[in-house]
Amino acid sequence: MHSENIFNSLNQIKLIIDEHKEEIEKLDQEIGDGDHIFNIQRGIKESLNLKEELLNQDPGEVFKKIGMKIMTTVGGSSGALFATLLIGMAKKYNKELSDQKNITTMFFAGVEAMKKRGKSDKGEKTMLDVLIPVSEKLMELSNSTDIKLIAKKIKETAEKGMYSTKDLIATKGRASFLGDRAKGHIDPGARSSQLAIEAICNTIINN
Ligand code: ADP
Ligand code: MG
Repeated sequence: MHSENIFNSLNQIKLIIDEHKEEIEKLDQEIGDGDHIFNIQRGIKESLNLKEELLNQDPGEVFKKIGMKIMTTVGGSSGALFATLLIGMAKKYNKELSDQKNITTMFFAGVEAMKKRGKSDKGEKTMLDVLIPVSEKLMELSNSTDIKLIAKKIKETAEKGMYSTKDLIATKGRASFLGDRAKGHIDPGARSSQLAIEAICNTIINN
């Protein structure tokens, strides 16, 4: 893993999020307060601003510093939660491991940290309905060497998780105030997380 790859992925994430700006904004207007797209775009911008400073640093440091930047500059539940994910990932970076093993271990630890921070789990109509199944799928595929196949499966898993939020009732976050009325709406955080994962998977699939 090289820090440059992290920033390349961030650029891909920026493109896909910007492309779906209106859709994400609308989702959070329907079951939240409408600021989710703003928070996500702010986080991406602040992270990309660190590129020059971090380009030659160790990937673990890069994840940590981006996480800390997001923690201090991005609002909403998603700011604190994504920051926690990245800082959790940073702690597990091990330069001795292959990219694939590293990502699997780091992502698992990051998602566990997020679950703790948000006191939440799968089935609560949040981005964890995307992130937990993706983490589980990475573990399941950790012995496969077909990286394109892994990317394809991860992309599918993220999509399935995102759609699963549609018919759930929220028990965490603002959407939980709506009770039954949140049903029929996809969770904005699940959609933005799924899109970010799709962007990374597409670069692997199309490489
Ligand atoms: P806020 O809800 O504070 O306005 P955002 O709009 O940026 O923050 O983010 C909303 C998203 O955050 C939701 O769509 C959901 O996916 C996610 N979320 C909210 N609370 C939690 C939680 N406790 N655990 C995991 N994700 C959460
Ligand atoms: Mg919001």
